[in-house]
Amino acid sequence: MSSVNLFITVTLKLEAIIVEVGRDENGDFIIFDKTIFHPQGGGQPDDKGHFKLKNKQFVVKKLWAPRNFNEEEPFNMEEQVNQMVLQEIDMKLRKFYAHIHSAGHLLSNAVNNLYPNIDGCNGNHFPETSFVIFEGSPLPELQELKQKLSEKVNELVKSNLPVKIVWESKSKTIQFGSFKAYPCGGTHVANTLEIGEITIRKLKKEKGGKLKVGYDIK
Ligand SMILES: [Zn+2]
Repeated sequence: MSSVNLFITVTLKLEAIIVEVGRDENGDFIIFDKTIFHPQGGGQPDDKGHFKLKNKQFVVKKLWAPRNFNEEEPFNMEEQVNQMVLQEIDMKLRKFYAHIHSAGHLLSNAVNNLYPNIDGCNGNHFPETSFVIFEGSPLPELQELKQKLSEKVNELVKSNLPVKIVWESKSKTIQFGSFKAYPCGGTHVANTLEIGEITIRKLKKEKGGKLKVGYDIK
């Protein structure tokens, strides 16, 4: 793919041209000149959606940078190079993924703001299992952290901080308001108010003195 839209304010549909089709160890694939689908990465899942070609609909089963599609019924893809397709993204799911991802980043900012010696270093922003890993010491008492963090992060949500994407040469960082920016390749909301209430699911001390914070959004 040559370009991908990362904000959730992206359009629901996009016309794209097939530039290559083929088959490899992962099955059939198709390459478009551009796409609205965001592949799994930056700790968030693949977008879901489909594309339409000559009134037939093909469900996108797996995304790679850069390829793929899945044929529902026999269709000669080899003859479709240079054809225009209409890609349609599952926007409800895309928004949900972006909200979870942004919530994870905001958690890092909240913890780092409460305890400047502790910072987020890793995370997973999949629904129901989302978490952020923190490092630094000394770690505060977990019950105290849970309460303070829950208050702080939701205060930041309500502050309606704008989300800024900064491209620097080849790296991309995400920043909420004037808080610390983190490198990121995922999708995000446009402001923190959009995230809605964040709940802290679980706090756990991990090996190597790290801290795992599980979280959910409504
Ligand atoms: Zn990220």
